[in-house]
Amino acid sequence: MKNVGIISLGCPKNLVDSEIITGLLIKEGYNFVSEEKFDKADVLIVNTCSFIQMAKEESINTILELGRYKKKGKCKFLIVAGCLVQQYKDRLIKQLPEVDCFIGTGEIFRILQIVGGKAKKKLYVNLPGCLYDAKTPRYISTPFYMAYIKIAEGCNNRCSYCLIPSLRGEYKSRPMSSILEEAKILSEKGVKEINLIAQDTTFYGMDLYGEFRLSMLLKELVKIKKIKWIRVLYSYPSHINVELVNTMARYKKICNYIDLPLQHINNKILFLMNRHYNKKDIVNLICYLRSKIPNLSLRTVFINGFPRETKEEFNELLDFIKKIKFEKVGSFIYSREKGTKAFLLKSQVPEKDKKYRQKRLMTLQQKIIYEKNKEELGKIKEAVIEGKCGRKKYLKARLQEDAFQIDRSVYVYSKEAKKIGDFVQVKITGSDVYDLEGICIEKNSVH
Ligand code: SF4
Repeated sequence: MKNVGIISLGCPKNLVDSEIITGLLIKEGYNFVSEEKFDKADVLIVNTCSFIQMAKEESINTILELGRYKKKGKCKFLIVAGCLVQQYKDRLIKQLPEVDCFIGTGEIFRILQIVGGKAKKKLYVNLPGCLYDAKTPRYISTPFYMAYIKIAEGCNNRCSYCLIPSLRGEYKSRPMSSILEEAKILSEKGVKEINLIAQDTTFYGMDLYGEFRLSMLLKELVKIKKIKWIRVLYSYPSHINVELVNTMARYKKICNYIDLPLQHINNKILFLMNRHYNKKDIVNLICYLRSKIPNLSLRTVFINGFPRETKEEFNELLDFIKKIKFEKVGSFIYSREKGTKAFLLKSQVPEKDKKYRQKRLMTLQQKIIYEKNKEELGKIKEAVIEGKCGRKKYLKARLQEDAFQIDRSVYVYSKEAKKIGDFVQVKITGSDVYDLEGICIEKNSVH
C-alpha cells in the first residue's frame, strides 16, 4: 500500500481542499501518514496559502522542507497545491525543481491523474476555486466530533488589500441540498459540531438563488438531530440581515457566536479598503446583534498600519475597541500585496509603526478579555471535552462560544471519567488572561 502525507497551510477553507485531496487518494488505496512518518511517504503534498507575505514564506519553507524528504526518503512525488500556485503559476517551476507537479485551487481533483503518473504537464492552473459535493471522498482531519463544511467558494467583495478573489474566483454557492446531505453524512459519522465556512458565509445563496439563503440553510441544519452545535464563521457586516439574526437567536443549536472581520472603523480607511460599510453601520449592527442574541460572543479582526492610516485614525480604532469590548479580537499588520489596489496607495505606513500599533491594540484587548473572563465566574455553560491537559482529574474543553483552534479553552475538573467528544455542563470557577477553569456539574454528560 502506498503512503501519502499532506501539509495543509492557511485557512479552514484550504483545509477542506486538503481533506478532499486526501479522501480521493485514500479511496484510491493510499494510506494516510502523519508528519512524523513522512520519511515513509511515497507521495508528499503541500497545500499552500498565499494570503499575505508571511503565509507565502511559510509555504515556500514547507515545500523546501518536504523537498528534503524527497532527496533522502522514499518519496516519489512531491506535489504543491493551493493559492501560491494559483498566484505564481509557472514562475514556481524554475524556483522549485524538486516539485513534480503544481496544481492550482481549481485543480485538486486532478490529484489521482498525477500520482497515477499520467500527468502530461508540470503545472495545472485553471479557473480558481472548486466546489465539492456530499459524495466527494473527504478525509476529515479535525477531531471526530467536529467538521468544517465549505458552503461556497470565491468572493465578490473585492477588498482593496485582498488577493483572494484572484486566487479563488467569483463567489460560487454550493446547492443547499448538497450541504444538507453532507451534514447528515457527517452527523452519522459522529460529527456533533458543524462549522460553516466560505470567504463570506453571509453572501451564501445570492449568486445561485438570487437571495441570501444562510438563514434558510441554518433552519434546515438545526433539524439534523445528531448535530449539537452549528457555528457560522467569516460573516460580512453588510450581508447580515434581520432574518439571519432572528434565526441565530431562535435556535439553541446555533452557536451564540459571530465571527465578524471589521478590519478597521475609521470611515476614510474603510473607504480605502473598499469595505461596504461605515462606522455608524457597524455601531448600529453590533448594538442590534447584542440586543437580539443572548450572551453573544463577538469575534473580529483588524488590520494595523493600512496605507494612509494616521495616528489619530489608529487612536479612533483603539477608542472603538475600548467602547465595544469584543469577546475576541485578532489582528494582522497590513501586508502590501502586488496585484491588489491598496498596493498602489501612497503613504504606506513604516513596518515598525505597523508592529507598534498591533502591539498596542492586542495589549488593550488582553486587558478587555481578562475582565470579560472574570465575568464568566459562576456561570453554567455547555462544553465539549477535547483532551487531557496534564493535570490529574482535569480535562481540556471548549465552550460553545469558542471556536476550534482559534479561541480560548476551559480546563474542567471532573470526578467522573469523561471521553473526548463528550458534551458536558460546566460551572466556571476560575479565569486568567486567556483561558477559563471549571467543574463538570452534570452526571449524564450527553455523548
Ligand atoms: S471579504 Fe474581502 S478580505 Fe475577505 S476574502 Fe473577500 S475580498 Fe478578501
